[in-house]
Amino acid sequence: MKFFDLQRQDKLIKKEIDEAIRRVLNSSVFIGGQEVEKFEKEIAKFCRVKYAVSVNSGTDALFLSLKALGVEPGDEIVTTPFTFIATAEVITNLGAKPVFVDINPNTFNINSSKIREVITEKTKGVMPVHLFGQMVDMDEIMKIAKKYKLFVIEDAAQVIGAKIKSKVKSQKSKAAMAGSVGDLGCFSFFPTKNLGAYGDGGMIVTNNKKLADKIRLLKNHGSSPKEKYLNLILGMNSRLDALQAAVLRKKLKYLEEWNKKRAKNALYYNKFLKGVGDIIVPETGLGLTHIFHQYTIRTKYRDQLKKYLEKEGIPAMIYYLIPLHLQPCFKYLNFKKGNFPEAEKAAKEVLSLPIYPELPRKDQNHIVQKIRNFYA
Ligand SMILES: *Cc1c(COP(=O)(O)O)cnc(C)c1O
Repeated sequence: MKFFDLQRQDKLIKKEIDEAIRRVLNSSVFIGGQEVEKFEKEIAKFCRVKYAVSVNSGTDALFLSLKALGVEPGDEIVTTPFTFIATAEVITNLGAKPVFVDINPNTFNINSSKIREVITEKTKGVMPVHLFGQMVDMDEIMKIAKKYKLFVIEDAAQVIGAKIKSKVKSQKSKAAMAGSVGDLGCFSFFPTKNLGAYGDGGMIVTNNKKLADKIRLLKNHGSSPKEKYLNLILGMNSRLDALQAAVLRKKLKYLEEWNKKRAKNALYYNKFLKGVGDIIVPETGLGLTHIFHQYTIRTKYRDQLKKYLEKEGIPAMIYYLIPLHLQPCFKYLNFKKGNFPEAEKAAKEVLSLPIYPELPRKDQNHIVQKIRNFYA
């Protein structure tokens, strides 16, 4: 049994993928070109935004977003300590300071009611991370951002296709797509993400033309889109390969179906794991469409359960074992154990189970049975 079995998905769409790759090889347009342009348009449509700019990875999407918004050394950016390292790493790489706010233990997402407490005159923006497939309470985040004139970059690496219904009356009618609520939304196409490339890839979505244009410049050496060899600003090379765009275009057509299958698998787990031992099954908030990038349970016996499952041939993963404020790379920020108790507690109790869309029911039954045996 594998935690993600990417081969199962590849087998299902092999013909289409082979054809897409061959099409790129025949064209010999490997950087930019039609595949990339079309994919950007398709993502913009899918996310219901005006602009989508492709980049080389989710990490670059976050980095270029901060750069486009003018983040400078000394600036403070509010984010969560319970996330993948990239979220805070990009802030640091611009000389800015990540300012952490503890999480809500029920959702693992940033506790938005505590953001106000950390805002100073140096605070420039908020980077909420929609963890495991479920969005942060964006009503509250946007309210704070408006009041304190902060930008909002959504780290939407784990939630492409997730939705949120606003509780604000005027916006109540239609659910908003992940990535479309803040100033900029960042996606990752890392192979194991819900929409995974056959390599690295990323995307930034926005309704702000100025920001989209700025990111387009930054990701391609600041090269003028109109005149060759004219470099308007200093940028970098962060482009999505045409091969990846061609693969992702084929996969995008299945994304909603795959996200639904993950949610179905999650419901099945819930049914058989709720009330077993001290297990807490994941909770889906009101008005949210959870796309279950991860299916993450909590238990005080996490380490023993993980060992037991491993012995039975069942892979389970810990996202995340060390909260960011306790990582050696952030030692210089002088955080201590106990600074973010909910994140630290979650780090000791979380366990993610296989949830990929093609997970065979037989395997899922086996996993459920073994977990129940552990607690029996
Ligand atoms: C995957 C991920 C990233 C980074 O994306 P890459 O494409 O691997 O660079 C950033 N933030 C979160 C929350 C992620 O899960």
